[in-house]
Amino acid sequence: MRVLLVRPKAPNVFRFSRLVENEPIELEYLLTTLLALGNEAQIYDGIFDSRPLKNVLKKIKPDLVAITGYITQENAMKAVATLVKKVDANILTVAGGVHVQLNPDSFKTPVIDFIFRSASMQDFEAFIKFVGVASNPRDFSTRDEPINGLMYRDSFGDWQSNDLISVDINTLPIPDRSHFYANRHLYRYLEFKEIATMKTAFSCPQSCAFCYCKQLNGGKYQTRDLDTVMEELMSLKADCVQIVDDDFLADIKRAWSFTRMVKASGLKKSFICYARADEVAGNPDLIIALKEIGFRYFIVGLEAVNDAELLAYDKRTTASINRACIQTIQDAGAQCIALMTVPHTAEKSDFDAIYTWAVDNNLVYTTVSIFTPIPGTPLYELHKTSITSKKIEHWDFLHLVLKPTRLSKIMFYFNFIRLTVRLYLLGKKRGGFSW
Ligand code: SF4
Repeated sequence: MRVLLVRPKAPNVFRFSRLVENEPIELEYLLTTLLALGNEAQIYDGIFDSRPLKNVLKKIKPDLVAITGYITQENAMKAVATLVKKVDANILTVAGGVHVQLNPDSFKTPVIDFIFRSASMQDFEAFIKFVGVASNPRDFSTRDEPINGLMYRDSFGDWQSNDLISVDINTLPIPDRSHFYANRHLYRYLEFKEIATMKTAFSCPQSCAFCYCKQLNGGKYQTRDLDTVMEELMSLKADCVQIVDDDFLADIKRAWSFTRMVKASGLKKSFICYARADEVAGNPDLIIALKEIGFRYFIVGLEAVNDAELLAYDKRTTASINRACIQTIQDAGAQCIALMTVPHTAEKSDFDAIYTWAVDNNLVYTTVSIFTPIPGTPLYELHKTSITSKKIEHWDFLHLVLKPTRLSKIMFYFNFIRLTVRLYLLGKKRGGFSW
């Protein structure tokens, strides 16, 4: 079979800045599986590929197009499927990825043939094998064994949905990085150019009320065997690696083991990872050890500067833990990238308080998001009847999807943009953004 793997363009008003661009690791896992089965496959990264997709489809003539994306790319994913069917209605389309996993019903459209919810490459392999040989590859009801989490239309055109069970992350292959190596100049995280992306765990054991990460993989946190992680790292031809686990320090014992293994291997790389404030603040020796093996940035969802907001997010941290976290990272000689959130209930003083917090805590990189209730999370259930926007592109954490309660919409955006600019200038003054 010939398969085209597509990541559509990302609608993001700040994309012009090109400060953070990730390798499409999810497509590289699919590519690895497809090539191992003897298929022809290639990646079309719509974020960077300047070739019109229509021309690519006509040239490659794929049998199947697999499309992934985040929540803000939902319409872009459907637009890709529509284009595929216009070019040739016989090409099969399958949608997958984290947004599909949590919101599969949004993809029940005539232009999508399959909704693939599992993150398992074994499940994907079974799917590809069936599509490749079945006389009617659209109808999976003729297959004896149901494929984990697959949604498809039966011979009557009705959507059928297989049960979704959590998968074993250790079945992930070491990804084929040929796409990354050919396009490495495109990917970066701040000053770290040609940065590779790596996944060592699924989901998150915490349960912050605004976050969808906990819901992934059927809500089951799973870590990859560290021997496999090391094998992948040793073979990875990149000086910088962003570990994109939702919380790399969720298992402190494992993080220590990783630190010892990297040290013993003599591996020299720069690392960036996500972590929680309480884990950082409670483990200063670990942060020092991680810094020694190359961890340069810890991206921490601090979210708020006061306990009341942290409680509302069910973050299970406090403002003083947040302060201790920043200090611990700075004492180790690394940088904390602080992710803050402004709620729709914010007034001007709340925006100013975040700026003052960044000044007082010597932060260089502080980003601000607007609170956005993500479908599938507890806070979505709480706010869903008050949502004011129907545009899925507004779920990018840069738009209001709830009516601001203390400021007019214009004044809310004015304060949000003002804060973003002030934080950027503060970071620049402190030596950030200086490449
Ligand atoms: S915000 Fe972070 S710690 Fe909380 S559930 Fe999400 S990934 Fe886990």
